[in-house]
Amino acid sequence: MSTYPQRVADNILPLSLAGTLPEAFGEWFFTDNVEDHEDSEEVCQLCDQEQLRYHFEIENRNTGGRLWVGSSCILKFDVQVFEDGELLDQGMARKKLESIKNKMRLDSCIRALELVSQKESNGILSNALKYYQKNKYLTPKQAFVVLWRLKEHSIDHSASFFKVSLKRNKYKDDLRDMSLSKVHVIWPALTSAQRNLATSFGHIPPKEGI
Ligand SMILES: [Zn+2]
Repeated sequence: MSTYPQRVADNILPLSLAGTLPEAFGEWFFTDNVEDHEDSEEVCQLCDQEQLRYHFEIENRNTGGRLWVGSSCILKFDVQVFEDGELLDQGMARKKLESIKNKMRLDSCIRALELVSQKESNGILSNALKYYQKNKYLTPKQAFVVLWRLKEHSIDHSASFFKVSLKRNKYKDDLRDMSLSKVHVIWPALTSAQRNLATSFGHIPPKEGI
């Protein structure tokens, strides 16, 4: 088996003018093209890492060669990332890639919400869709109905991508008053701070793997 640096070199050098690393990476930039494959089954064409859900396209400005890679490789190998024609530093590049991923997660939640509200005519679901498009989060009660119905209809979704707001006191009260089984349904969508809050209300975290 070839080593990691060897695999990267084998993938990038034939598509670059420079014959060595890291010089070759100076020729590459992120094209802003991304793809959400829904399942984490894709391979990084740079390092051969598997189980990627998101592909980011990079291009060589000299040869026109293109590869679909993972965002971590863009950062690891200093592939250039631009915004409005300006080259971003490492920190800004990381932020840009993260916000692109957040956008893809949001879009995937919206797609799931659209599907589930087509499956059943339920005012809570159609309102939740409109609410999510507008606010980019659900209330705890909405989150319960949405995640429950998505599962019931076997609609592909990532529960952890949904965002739940607990900012208003009403939402905190709703979480406090929720039955434990309902809290467990929305658990994957809660942040660690929100999980701590739920625990402080006396809710017991679900067992691992749920
Ligand atoms: Zn990679």
